[in-house]
Amino acid sequence: MKILFVTPECAPLVKTGGLGDVAAALPKALRMLGHEVVTLMPAYGGMQPGGTLQRVIALPRTARWPDAQLLEVVQPSGEHFLFLSCPYAFGDVKSPYGPSGAGAPGHAAVPFGLLSHVAALIGTQRSPTGWQAEIVHANDWPCGLAPLYLQAERSAGGSSVARSVMTIHNLAFQGVFPIEATDLLNVAPPYRGVEGVEFWGQLSMLKAGLQQADAITTVSPTYAREIQQPALGFGLDGVLRARSHQLHGLLNGIDTEVWNPCSDGLIAERYDVDDLAGKAKNRAALRKRAGLPDSKQPLLGLIGRLTEQKGVDLIIAGAPRLLAKGFQLVVLGKGDARLEDALLQLAAAYPRQVHVTLGFDESLAHQIEAGADSFLMPSRFEPCGLNQMYSQAYGTPPVVTATGGLADTVADVTRFPDDGTGFVMPRADQASFDQAMDHLLRLWGNPRAWQTLQRRGMQRDFGWGNAARQYVDLYAALVRTTASAH
Ligand code: ADP
Repeated sequence: MKILFVTPECAPLVKTGGLGDVAAALPKALRMLGHEVVTLMPAYGGMQPGGTLQRVIALPRTARWPDAQLLEVVQPSGEHFLFLSCPYAFGDVKSPYGPSGAGAPGHAAVPFGLLSHVAALIGTQRSPTGWQAEIVHANDWPCGLAPLYLQAERSAGGSSVARSVMTIHNLAFQGVFPIEATDLLNVAPPYRGVEGVEFWGQLSMLKAGLQQADAITTVSPTYAREIQQPALGFGLDGVLRARSHQLHGLLNGIDTEVWNPCSDGLIAERYDVDDLAGKAKNRAALRKRAGLPDSKQPLLGLIGRLTEQKGVDLIIAGAPRLLAKGFQLVVLGKGDARLEDALLQLAAAYPRQVHVTLGFDESLAHQIEAGADSFLMPSRFEPCGLNQMYSQAYGTPPVVTATGGLADTVADVTRFPDDGTGFVMPRADQASFDQAMDHLLRLWGNPRAWQTLQRRGMQRDFGWGNAARQYVDLYAALVRTTASAH
C-alpha cells in the first residue's frame, strides 16, 4: 500500500514528546512489512533534514495558501520524507507549535492548515509529487483538517481519493482557533457546522479530523475506552461515542534500535537481561553526573513534561516522605513554571538526594533510563506513554497509575507476584502513591525478587511489529472499501 504519514514532529529531527518517537518508528515498521511509506512534515527553521535531497517540488500557486515547496529527501536508512517548506508559515524547530503567522484573527491556524491541505492533495490524482497515496494517516490536531479536505474532495465527485486515518496521541491538545479561520482555511460550507470544524463557537482542527476521518485510532486500548467518557473526553467524548465503531485502540511500540540497553551508545555501559552488572555501572555514572553520593537506597528517575497530567505534583508532595526513607531522585524535564520551581526548591533543600535538570536532553534521558532503579510515572491520564516501556526494557521497574497505556503495559507485581513488571497505583492520588512506594521499598529489600522483577520487564516484547501489523490490517480494510466504491 501507498501510505502518507503526516506529522508535525518526527525524532530525531524534531521532537517534543511521544509523537516524535512514534513518527520515527511506525513508518519504519510499516516499510519492513513491505509498504511504501512517505512522511510529510514541516521544514522548521534550523532543522537539519540530513539525507539526500532528491528534488524540489513547487506547489501550485493559489490565492488561498502561502507559497510553499516540497523538499523530497531520502535518508541513508531508506526513510522517505517530504518536507513542507514555507518559512512564512513554520517557525523554529525549537518551538514547532510556537507562535507564527500574525495578522487577521485565526491566522495562526494557517501553518497546520497548509500542512493538512498538502497532505490531502497528495491523496488525490492531482498529487504534486506524481505519487498518490492510498492512505493518508494524520496525527494529532495539526493534521486534523486533512481528513476533512479529503472528504470534501470525495463529496465533490473526486475519483479515487485516499482513505484517511486520524490518530489521537493526546486528546487534551485540540488545535482550537477563532471561527474566523474557517474562511482562511478554505473549509467548504457543509463542514463548517458541528459535523465539521465547529466546537463551541470556535474551530477545532482535531474535531474536524475525528468527524471526517474514515477511521480513528488512538494509542492504547484503555485510552480508546477512556476518551469516550466525560472524565477524559475533553469535550469530545460525545463525538467519539458516536464514532465508536470506527475508533480503534492500537498500542504503540518502542523503537528497539534506539531504546535498547544492549546497543545504546548513549549510556555508560551496555547490558542485557543475562548480565545486569552493567546496570550498576550506569547507576554509578548517573549519580556522578547528577552530583549525588553513593547510597544503598533506590535511585528514582523522572523524565517528561512537567505537568499535572504527569502527576509531577504528587511526586513533589510525596517527596519529603520519600526522602526521609532515603530515596534519591533524578529529574529531567520542562513544563509548568510552578512545578519547575517546586522541583528546584526540592533540589536546593536536599542536594544529596535530589537532582533536577530543566530542559530537553536526549542522552540524559537514556542515561536516566539505564541508571535509575525505578521510574516514576504517576500520570492522571496517559494515552500510551513510552517511558514506562523504555523503563521495563532497561530493567528499571516503573511506578505508574492504572490509566490509558500505562494500564495496558505494566503488570502490578503487588497483585501479580509471578507476572508483575512494575508498581501500579489504582488512582493518581497521594495515598496510592505513598502505598506504591512502600511496596517498592519492601521488594527492594529482597534483591533476588527485585532482579526477577527487572528481568521480567526486560523480557517483554514492546517492539513495533505487532502494532504495525494492526495498522496494516486497518489500512487494508479501508482500501478495500475504496475499491468496492468504484
Ligand atoms: P508525552 O508524549 O505525553 O510527552 P511519552 O511518554 O509518550 O509522553 O513520550 C515522551 C517522550 O519524550 C519520551 O521519549 C521521553 O523520553 C521524551 N522526553 C520527554 N521530556 C524529555 C526531556 N526533557 N528530555 C529528553 N527527553 C524527553
